[in-house]
Amino acid sequence: MKIIGITEKEDLIDIVCDICGKSTKTEFDDYEYAELSARWGYSSSKDEEYHEVCLCEKCYDQVTSYIESIGGKVTIRSY
Ligand SMILES: [Zn+2]
Repeated sequence: MKIIGITEKEDLIDIVCDICGKSTKTEFDDYEYAELSARWGYSSSKDEEYHEVCLCEKCYDQVTSYIESIGGKVTIRSY
């Protein structure tokens, strides 16, 4: 037997870029974004903090360009 009723539940509405604020939703109803995160431990000055940022592709490209401009390397692999 199916019992039908109205329920309230939390659901994902959107994922927006933390730099430009634009939606990362694509024309195919999925999301394209980078999620950068850091979990800081006891030995750091940010003990027990979790940092997270979501970036759209354009802002991600700017961030990775900056990383490379200061000598860093972004590893790219196919999956
Ligand atoms: Zn952005």
